Amino acid sequence: MAIATINPATGETLKTFEPLNDTEIAAKLDAAQQAFEQYRKTSFTQRSQWLNTAASILEQDQTDFAKLMTVEMGKPYKAAIAEVEKCAAVCRYYAENAADFLADVSVKTDASHSFVRYQPLGIILAVMPWNFPFWQVFRFAAPALMAGNVGLLKHASNVPQCALAIEDIIRRAGFPEGAFQSLLIGAAKVADLMADERVKAATLTGSEPAGASLAAAAGKQIKKTVLELGGSDPFIVLESADIAAAAATATTARMLNTGQSCIAAKRFIVAEAIADQFEKLLLEKFTALKVGDPMIPDTDLGPLATPGILQDLDQQVQAAVKSGGKILTGGHPLVDMPGNFYPPTIIIDIPAESQIAQEEFFGPVALLFRVPDIDAAIKLANATPFGLGASAWTNNDRERDRLVTEIEAGAVFINGLVKSDPRLPFGGIKRSGYGRELSIQGIQEFVNVKTVWVK
Ligand code: NAP
Repeated sequence: MAIATINPATGETLKTFEPLNDTEIAAKLDAAQQAFEQYRKTSFTQRSQWLNTAASILEQDQTDFAKLMTVEMGKPYKAAIAEVEKCAAVCRYYAENAADFLADVSVKTDASHSFVRYQPLGIILAVMPWNFPFWQVFRFAAPALMAGNVGLLKHASNVPQCALAIEDIIRRAGFPEGAFQSLLIGAAKVADLMADERVKAATLTGSEPAGASLAAAAGKQIKKTVLELGGSDPFIVLESADIAAAAATATTARMLNTGQSCIAAKRFIVAEAIADQFEKLLLEKFTALKVGDPMIPDTDLGPLATPGILQDLDQQVQAAVKSGGKILTGGHPLVDMPGNFYPPTIIIDIPAESQIAQEEFFGPVALLFRVPDIDAAIKLANATPFGLGASAWTNNDRERDRLVTEIEAGAVFINGLVKSDPRLPFGGIKRSGYGRELSIQGIQEFVNVKTVWVK
């Protein structure tokens, strides 16, 4: 895949980049290792000052960064502004809390003094996707840098200017040269990086094949990985729920980032008794959405990020129809528009046991299923290889407890939208990956948990 900025709203190639050659990659690794030797000795206070400065730079120049995201991957501009603000928030969160999260923890044993100390590991490689091109990187970089690690970023090939802008923000914030570098390289170079003795661990957010490939390369070298992969999150609506609120949130939950979010609600599982009402409301809301130029403020849905994603999504929709699904709205690419546009789409009547019902649809397509009761709802919710998030709607306490306990996912949100929040751990189970980002769990993923025993 070429490393290039191609505007998904027009198809125009705006800038191309030569990938780094082996000598240039080696120089970046040297710089990262040298930076680590000094950087690991800096204080939490110093790192916090730099990270707070990064937050201020994000806020000051937010319009430039937001435009960059919109131009490179098609995110509606207003969503891109919100993403920059969220990046500033995660920087401030870790600047404030990292010292507490990584403070020594005393433990009473037979020693005169024993405790746990958290220490940085060294160079951490981050392989990141294009869908939240700033947020995915900052939610890794903020805790990694606060822990005293240094970062190397291999960003998705379609967002090179975002990758370079992030490196620049961290440098301008005052972090030492080499503490965080972007490598403009293709995916084929990742295994070699994992084999380099100086790279101590890696995190990848992206697809299952990419995650499996990185984990295999890391496994050969006995190196730790965190994987945040795909999802096919259920959105369950039971009879006692506030149906209007559920339908409104369902629309946001499916359409956020033009449907290209790992934690987007993808399968809507609705109690038969209220299914007609929910379906009608959802259809009204989907058909009211504005698809168009992502730079225009009232656009709800921009283009999909690449022509390949558009093609894959359309193939899945056609496969769903072949398996028995019926299209309520949408269902074909918007060929009259330049760029990769797909309309809001609802598919009903897909057989729950079909292969396609278990796949992740990475775009503005909702699959709607009807179930007789909560048992069937939970069974269907869990009938997927993924286990990232789940949103469930009920006003019955007993149902709520069952949903919280029995849904197989890294997160369950009751009567709300699944979202990431710096204060809460984020990650999945099953084929959605392992490990956690954000919160105290996120900063403790890439540290040496050192046991100290003194007599
Ligand atoms: P992708 O193709 O896996 O790309 C993600 C990153 O991995 C890119 O930097 C890509 O580089 C790299 N990559 C691809 N193949 C690789 C390989 N064999 N070895 C090492 N690196 C490799 O994923 P995508 O299509 O961009 O993103 C969509 C997927 O990501 C969806 O499944 C979505 O659910 C998931 N996702 C998950 C989360 C989460 O937090 N769980 C968040 C966002 C997205 P190139 O661009 O150079 O190919």
